Amino acid sequence: LTPPSSGVVARIIDEVYELCRGDTSGALADYIPELAAVQPDSFALCLATADGQVYGSGDLDTAFTIQSISKPFTYALALADRGTAAVAERIDVEPSGEPFFEISLDPTTQRPRNPMINAGAITAASLVTGHDAADRFERIRRSYCRFAGRDLRLNADVYASEARTGYRNLAIGYLLRGAGIIDIDPDEAVDRYFRQCSIDITCRDLAIMAATLANNGVNPLTHERALTAPLVEQVLSVMTTCGMYDAAGDWVTTVGLPAKSGVGGGILAVLPGQLGIAVYSPRLDAHGSSVRGVKACRELSNRLGLHFLHVT
Ligand code: GLU
Repeated sequence: LTPPSSGVVARIIDEVYELCRGDTSGALADYIPELAAVQPDSFALCLATADGQVYGSGDLDTAFTIQSISKPFTYALALADRGTAAVAERIDVEPSGEPFFEISLDPTTQRPRNPMINAGAITAASLVTGHDAADRFERIRRSYCRFAGRDLRLNADVYASEARTGYRNLAIGYLLRGAGIIDIDPDEAVDRYFRQCSIDITCRDLAIMAATLANNGVNPLTHERALTAPLVEQVLSVMTTCGMYDAAGDWVTTVGLPAKSGVGGGILAVLPGQLGIAVYSPRLDAHGSSVRGVKACRELSNRLGLHFLHVT
């Protein structure tokens, strides 16, 4: 299979961008007050290859919060810190078919069903090691920076907004502590999760983070290793089955790439060994994923033949 030339990729990105731009359906997330304050028309589409070529259209440098796209990266750090077996004792890898905010643990094992729903993500945040709470968050932030290849910062307004209104996530944290799944103060675990969700990124950053996963854990621009190859495989597996909220099955059949979306309007998708895709557009569908983001990924997957089961 010969990969399409760079001119063809750039043209397809522009075409898909134009095709999706007119779709203004969906609504901004408003359950975190600050998320409703973003510019609703922002739209960016970016593709980065595993050897570091970057193609994009639109508002590539507009900042937005990573939200749930943080989940695979913190899970990755927890796996690196504690080992796969120790993490598996606390977080399962089964798709839940439930919305991300579901307050549910597996009835027999008490484990959260996977690291992509909030219960699993809060548990992963609790497992990250460090001297104290500040250091543990700083280690998370720095690990995201290695994936993005630049310094990423907390958005203090979104963090404050989420910390003020995140009662449901606090309830999940207390449930996890009661079940013995997390050992630390639940307030600390949930606070860390709120902070990681509030890290500002751009669509270009997200494409590089995706390309780092596509490049087996090595950032194609800085050449720094962000994650070991076996853990990349574990993280991408969980993204394949659980990354797209309760629409994971629809996503796999129509796009066919491991992916993660966030209520900030970002989507990250990975074709292992080849490339990463990122989209930013903050109007969301009923599942909590970017409307234009889902559409753009479908179009790109079709036009470039990216579905991982695609045979030429
Ligand atoms: N911080 C958000 C929450 O847990 C993230 C949700 C998401 O992006 O799905 O409510």
